[in-house]
Amino acid sequence: MDFRDLRNRTFKGFLAEEEAARLYDLAREASSLGACLEIGSYCGLSAAYLGLGCREGGGVLYSIDHHRGSEEQQPGEAYFDPDLLDSRTGRIDTFPLFRRTLEELSLDGTVIPIVGRSAEIAAHWRSPLALVFIDGGHTFEAAFNDYNSWVSHLIPGGCLAIHDLFPDPAKGGQAPWCVYNLALASGLFEALPTTGTLGILRRAPCGTITATAAAAWEKIRP
Ligand code: MG
Repeated sequence: MDFRDLRNRTFKGFLAEEEAARLYDLAREASSLGACLEIGSYCGLSAAYLGLGCREGGGVLYSIDHHRGSEEQQPGEAYFDPDLLDSRTGRIDTFPLFRRTLEELSLDGTVIPIVGRSAEIAAHWRSPLALVFIDGGHTFEAAFNDYNSWVSHLIPGGCLAIHDLFPDPAKGGQAPWCVYNLALASGLFEALPTTGTLGILRRAPCGTITATAAAAWEKIRP
């Protein structure tokens, strides 16, 4: 199966077609360097594209989510979907649909689900990563915690992808955009072209100096 075949399928999720295609390309490239990881599995839309890219590149995707829905997906909130309500517990549960997506696309073994909270998993994580895709909670606390929890595992030359960048506050929440700019200001990343609301930062390969770092030194050098 090619990622283009996915266009005819409908999965629940929030990802433009061009963003999905870019994730596929990123995962295919990164997975030859190391494992890939996403925060925010939801029902598996992005995992489908990332996972097919990983399979093509011979790698794996770890996909993290507590599967209880983010703040805006709770009953009464703007992105609530009654299909995702577990009638037994009265709580959101996206894991059954996520698992179904993996089964339908035969991605078991390539996409490895991790059910839990990102920061709690990261606290015990010891493996380097070639791609980190942040698409979890959209509060500043959630977005910053995801960035802080995972950025240290990103190998030089690896990519940090952040979804839902809205430079214009009238179009969407500002937390992912703030985190994107914090990462850029660190001097450790070069910005690659953005696709829709998907920002991509490449961590400087060993032995290279980023434009931001060079500019910072230029300002104060004797
Ligand atoms: Mg998103």
